Amino acid sequence: MRGVEVIEQTAKSVINAVPGMPFKWSINPYRGCYHQCRFCYARRTHTFLEEDGMRQWGTRIYVKVNAPAVVRAEVSKRSWKHEDVAIGTATDPYQPLEGRYRVTRGILEALRDYRTPGAIITRSPLIVRDIDVLQSLARVAGVRVSVSIATMDEALAREIEPTVAPPRQRLRAVRMLAEAGIDVSVALAPVLPGITDAQEQLEAVVAAARDAGARRIWHNTLNLHDVTRDEFFRYLKEHRPEMIAQYADLYRGKYAPRAISETIDARVHAAYQTAPMRHIDRIVANVPTQLSLI
Ligand code: SF4
Repeated sequence: MRGVEVIEQTAKSVINAVPGMPFKWSINPYRGCYHQCRFCYARRTHTFLEEDGMRQWGTRIYVKVNAPAVVRAEVSKRSWKHEDVAIGTATDPYQPLEGRYRVTRGILEALRDYRTPGAIITRSPLIVRDIDVLQSLARVAGVRVSVSIATMDEALAREIEPTVAPPRQRLRAVRMLAEAGIDVSVALAPVLPGITDAQEQLEAVVAAARDAGARRIWHNTLNLHDVTRDEFFRYLKEHRPEMIAQYADLYRGKYAPRAISETIDARVHAAYQTAPMRHIDRIVANVPTQLSLI
């Protein structure tokens, strides 16, 4: 991780209330993300502290080193209602630093010890390291995992998610989680209009998710706003300059036009028809990339 500045922080509180979302509580063990996905909606959280959400999003990463202890204190309170906690709504909880710091693992252990259900979203196969904790949390309170895979095309994945493990490695993680009895889904997210939204591209992800044993698949269409918009247009300039005008027209605001997101919905559902899983969850289009269960 050359070129990455790691800043250890002690947090006063770690579980955040999240109004207006499908879950009430969230935990983000890190701020910033080494994965540097070009479409990442969470980049704006760096700008809250007047930091650069473009380059620094992936090169200045804050680690909440005391998060496991703080979560343990928070969920052990008599007033805690043991409601679902989403982990990784604004960072990847299994980005490479987790290999060294084990903050996410400590948080899961705290949730397990105080019988609090969790939902995790990640793009990283590192999650399989914690299958033992996930199994014990599943037994006492329940846990759901979503592994994000936007495309099965490895070259395209490297373009849009520069430091994330290749899609097939992520699928291996899905398979291992499924075989361990963990409730695992694939997040086909975000779908990028004109880049990852062809019928055959979507079908490839759905079929691979089914074959790996995912119980569900959910998707959403790219949102562009704030610094994410700046970063995504920088990506287009570098890799797909011929699409700049098309995206400027599509994304006059934060969301793609309804006709585009509905077309994508229909294609994903058609793909699902050819590869049915237990059921399919459609996530409303305006929910940011990582916020499904999460
Ligand atoms: S989309 Fe997720 S994995 Fe990618 S940079 Fe953002 S937080 Fe990290």
